[in-house]
Amino acid sequence: MPIPVPQAILDALTDVEMPRLPPEPAAAGAVMAAGMRIPVWRAGCVVIGSGAAGLRAAVELARRGIRVAVLSQSAWGGTSACSGSDKQTLHTANTAGHGDDFDAMAAAIGAGGAMDGDLAMIEAVGSVRAMASLQYLGLPLPQDRLGGTLRYRTDHDEVGRATSCGPRTSRLMVRVLADEALRLGVPVFNHTTALRLMLRGDRAGGVIAMRAHDRDGDNPLGLALFSAPTIILAGGGPGELYRDSVYPNGCFGVLGLAIEAGLDLVNLTESQFGIGTRREGFPWNLSGTYVQALPHVHSVDAEGREHHFLAEYYRSTQEMASNIFRKGYQWPFHATRMLDFGSSLVDLAIAREGARGRRVFMDFNRNPQAVPGDLPFDLTRLDDDVRAYLGAAGAVQDRPIDRLRQMNPLSIELYRRSKIDIAAGPLEFAVNNQHMNGGIAVGIWGQTSHPAVFAVGEAAGTHGVTRPGGAALNAGQVFGTRAAEHVAARGAVPGDDPDPADLEAALAALLSVLRADSPLTLPRVRDEVQARMSDAAGILCDGAGVRAALEGARALNASIRASGIAPARPGESARALQWQQMALVSEAVLTALDHYITRGGGSRGARAILDAAGAGLPMTANGPLEDLRFRLERPEDRARQIVVAAQGDGFRVSERPVRQGDAGARPFFERDWPAWLTGAIHDRQEGSP
Ligand SMILES: Cc1cc2nc3c(=O)[nH]c(=O)nc-3n(C[C@H](O)[C@H](O)[C@H](O)COP(=O)(O)OP(=O)(O)OC[C@H]3O[C@@H](n4cnc5c(N)ncnc54)[C@H](O)[C@@H]3O)c2cc1C
Repeated sequence: MPIPVPQAILDALTDVEMPRLPPEPAAAGAVMAAGMRIPVWRAGCVVIGSGAAGLRAAVELARRGIRVAVLSQSAWGGTSACSGSDKQTLHTANTAGHGDDFDAMAAAIGAGGAMDGDLAMIEAVGSVRAMASLQYLGLPLPQDRLGGTLRYRTDHDEVGRATSCGPRTSRLMVRVLADEALRLGVPVFNHTTALRLMLRGDRAGGVIAMRAHDRDGDNPLGLALFSAPTIILAGGGPGELYRDSVYPNGCFGVLGLAIEAGLDLVNLTESQFGIGTRREGFPWNLSGTYVQALPHVHSVDAEGREHHFLAEYYRSTQEMASNIFRKGYQWPFHATRMLDFGSSLVDLAIAREGARGRRVFMDFNRNPQAVPGDLPFDLTRLDDDVRAYLGAAGAVQDRPIDRLRQMNPLSIELYRRSKIDIAAGPLEFAVNNQHMNGGIAVGIWGQTSHPAVFAVGEAAGTHGVTRPGGAALNAGQVFGTRAAEHVAARGAVPGDDPDPADLEAALAALLSVLRADSPLTLPRVRDEVQARMSDAAGILCDGAGVRAALEGARALNASIRASGIAPARPGESARALQWQQMALVSEAVLTALDHYITRGGGSRGARAILDAAGAGLPMTANGPLEDLRFRLERPEDRARQIVVAAQGDGFRVSERPVRQGDAGARPFFERDWPAWLTGAIHDRQEGSP
């Protein structure tokens, strides 16, 4: 018999209160620069970002006695605090039965290719500690009677390494880490947007930020200097890059900041796209039980007519329904899953409906309609794996909403809290950008191409072409810990403030972007960047389209360099600078994509590379989609990464082989102990970008 879950329990897992931040410490002093009086704070390490990754790094630093300051554009904003899905997933080693196999887990994490083997192994091994320490801090991961963690299978996961606290796992992670950070006295500087890194040679000097609430006559832009010898970038992903996006509003990330600091970026060609409700409303992933409940998917045209469009793609009702179900654990679009009537035909069909101007809905009060000429939908006529799963989950009720309630009542509750009742009416959704797999290149300790700067969480380009669901949250915890360990091992005490001449130069560069007389407004830059990325670099790309988009992105950046951006008011200055940086990120991504396609790169991960001569041909119930012929992936591309870095007014692109890791080289206690005892394991060596 199913056990009904009381409302109070559902509330606690969906309505997660965040702690109040205590008052910030006063500035340690001030410097005069660019004619302004700029307050200065000093720390051993500045962490940019207060998501799950940044807070993990901050907590681990503070526990090791490092004076850390966390800067956050919005303390409880960002994806960790504000995103999720039906069961938001944490991917960690499976501790049931005979336990996990870390070699196999690392292989699975990097299975899509273009991932460094050493980083995959670190994530696999580190996942045990990441999960146990989160549980120690109070993360309510579900257990069985004997203390085993409840698991399920998710995207790119054949074993079942996924676990979840419900729709808001990452918000709960932020909560327990924030509680710990505050307990440890870590100062969190809220509404503080980092805009420029101060680096000289191998040393970091600090970070220039803007704090709109600190604006006054002596400091009209609210500039602030955080002086520190080490910096950890934990600003999350570039969510504002695409128009069609399931990121929460205002996610800019720090890739633009990293480009301007001259850091190497890798795997920018690799992202995730999939179905969800867009950020214009309540941005949320529609994976897992939302689709496993088997709602009816349909579109509505401008005249209000309904279209059963999936019936044009699948040959039978059973095939269509089974593939809707598979979107539950094959959530991200994957080019080859468009073949053989696979589950990515669902994403393709939805994207094409959207491109025709139709709105697409999931209706939880109706079962999937029959494919014309075939038998009606029936729970007994589903593919074996689908029927078995629904049977085991007890989801055998007549209506999708009742099956969803049976499998995951939190998923209904969640939308209700955003005033959307999916039990009452259909839910509009689309294919959206959701995650950046690439990012700032890092080595085994999270160190970037600059030795005093680290990157963790989605800011870091640790993932390859694909990643198992939940691996993003795990990677942030593992590398947040590793970066902190490395910083602490090397020592980081507040040092000298940046050189005054460097500060003047950095401020001049920032101020040159803010030009009241510029024809470029924020909405104009935003609309241009987002439309270009969604139209030319979404799930379907082609060489000519990407090349044209790259030229457009270059032209936009040239205009910004020439005339700057006009903020509507001084309080918008930080946003204007973030859009200037986002325009750079868009050029960087398109540069990498253009390089990949021009050199013959094929369809992999999130993108199908359309090519009239391609061997991939999606079939539908109505015949082949000749206009969507695509190139297949070349195996050799799995063994290398594309690296992009700023050079002059453009970008330098190079390729490098992925590091294989040392799966064969087994540690030996007596031999390897001294390296740990002396800290030699932190020496810069293979594993540094
Ligand atoms: C809808 C959705 C569902 C997802 N589901 C899963 C899932 O099930 N499992 C999984 O593993 N991953 C999932 N992801 C991805 C995962 O949530 C993110 O990759 C992860 O939360 C990123 O954590 P982070 O700490 O790196 O960044 P964030 O949580 O985004 O935090 C970034 C922080 O940086 C701050 N910041 C940004 N720029 C600046 C700046 N210039 N100055 C100061 N502060 C700045 C922000 O305010 C924020 O505090 C999902 C993502 C989305 C959008």
